Amino acid sequence: MGDETDQNEIFDHVGEHPESMNMKLPITGGCVCGAIRYEIKAEPTLMLKCHCRDCQHVTGSGYAPAFLVPADALRVTQGELRYNFTPSIRRGKHKRGFCPECGSRITGGEFAEGDSPFVGLLASSLDDPTAFNPQMDIFVSDAQPWDQMDPAIPKFEQYPPLPGSE
Ligand SMILES: [Zn+2]
Ligand SMILES: [Zn+2]
Repeated sequence: MGDETDQNEIFDHVGEHPESMNMKLPITGGCVCGAIRYEIKAEPTLMLKCHCRDCQHVTGSGYAPAFLVPADALRVTQGELRYNFTPSIRRGKHKRGFCPECGSRITGGEFAEGDSPFVGLLASSLDDPTAFNPQMDIFVSDAQPWDQMDPAIPKFEQYPPLPGSE
């Protein structure tokens, strides 16, 4: 998720690829040690790969594969997330949740103030990660040369632009 993620802008792209939004409910997942488990009772509204430098650091990989769901649709059914914050270019700080026991990254894309309409989850934390079907690459300006991207999906230097604007 972009550090910085303006969720309203990203949400404007919802519905462009409705065929990708057919995950079985409830969606379940958790961390590698099992201390954190979650359930989601709504379909993802957007799936993307964020290549920003912060996502590289926190995932230990080239990008974060993430999907957004309405914040009130996520329920942590076991354990308690620990949070880490990085500065956001939008406002305040970007909030990311980890398992305090094993360090697995679970959530992201939230504003630190706690007023985010959506929360992002890492596709790798899904019980069935094959359900992830990314619709766009964001923050490709930070992408690594060894990070090969799917040419078939839209690319954004940072956030997706607002519809009708450059
Ligand atoms: Zn990111
Ligand atoms: Zn864990």
